[in-house]
Amino acid sequence: MQPPPRKRRISILTSTGSIGQSALAVVRHYPEWFEVVALGANTQWDVLAEQIREFKPKYAAVVDPYAAEKLAEENLGVEILKGDEGLNEAAKVPVDTVLCAVVGAAGLHPLLSAIGAGNRVAVANKEPFVMAGKLVMEEAAKHGVAVLPVDSEHNAIFQCLHGYEKSDVQCIHLTASGGPFYGKPRETLAAVTPEQAVRHPTWNMGEKISVDSATLMNKGLEIVEAMWLFGLPESQINVVIHPQSIVHSMVEYRDGNILAQMGVTDMRFPILFALTWPERVDTPMERLDLTRMNVLTFAEPDFAEFPCLALARRAAAEGGTATAILNAANETAVAAFRKHHIPFLSISDVVGATLDACRASQDYSLASVMDADARARETARGVIEQIGSLA
Ligand code: MG
Repeated sequence: MQPPPRKRRISILTSTGSIGQSALAVVRHYPEWFEVVALGANTQWDVLAEQIREFKPKYAAVVDPYAAEKLAEENLGVEILKGDEGLNEAAKVPVDTVLCAVVGAAGLHPLLSAIGAGNRVAVANKEPFVMAGKLVMEEAAKHGVAVLPVDSEHNAIFQCLHGYEKSDVQCIHLTASGGPFYGKPRETLAAVTPEQAVRHPTWNMGEKISVDSATLMNKGLEIVEAMWLFGLPESQINVVIHPQSIVHSMVEYRDGNILAQMGVTDMRFPILFALTWPERVDTPMERLDLTRMNVLTFAEPDFAEFPCLALARRAAAEGGTATAILNAANETAVAAFRKHHIPFLSISDVVGATLDACRASQDYSLASVMDADARARETARGVIEQIGSLA
């Protein structure tokens, strides 16, 4: 395989989580293809230090002050950029692609910083689209920047849309594995622990997204992500349960043809696609063996058992800052569940009560989004306290 005439410069922010580590595993396979310019961490300075030794970036962004101090003591010859602002600064360094993999709402500002600096972005975290998808896509258009989805479903849709007109799309079929509890009666989920919720049946992912997969909120957030990435209304985005996770999503056209993208459940594939797009490269990674697949099944999701999906649809249809409220309530509820402050089934209660209590505005500006985010977090905390005091 011929390497490109010059190495592609990439930054991975942050690089210590599940996506960041998978991305570096990809980069490791292609030493002649990539030059790592910036890496980043929130608190895991020791993991970051190992990555710096191996990949020798020029910049290391560290959000947590204590972690930044510890990293500095290692004397690795890297320029350390500190705090939230450090992450934004790292995102602005001119590169071919910034892989945005910060967990949650905290990823919005670094993503906007990367786009504002004219850097192409590969986006692994969906929360910025759920909060401020309109703004993100408008900024990308303004700066002439490509936005490449890394989320496996959206990466699949991006590939299936290639070469066709959006006006010819009948609908998108987002596939959902259903998570670890799909098909289990709701009453049996009352005692689910955070440890059980993060054990995903087909994908190996970070903890926050794994809990979202267990509640099916992840699929709800992905509906909003798809709306903005592909410029389609919520009504044209269908969700289908596909427990084998082999078909990563599909596009159905007006003439009845459905295009699907398939592959193994390994995030390194969509990451490789995004980092090398529009080229296709050889891969040493294990491929999908079609002859080993016995059966692929597709089913209608159960909205009654998994209310988060319906809550997300409600927010998506309302538009404006409703999805920022949804996202903030969900992040707050998931954090409380992971600390054993609320039971698993209360996550949807917190989100529903917060959506009821917080008025959404149709103002899509960053100030309005951040205001909605802050109000929703405060409201959600109040609901969580109430649930806690009733327990
Ligand atoms: Mg996904």
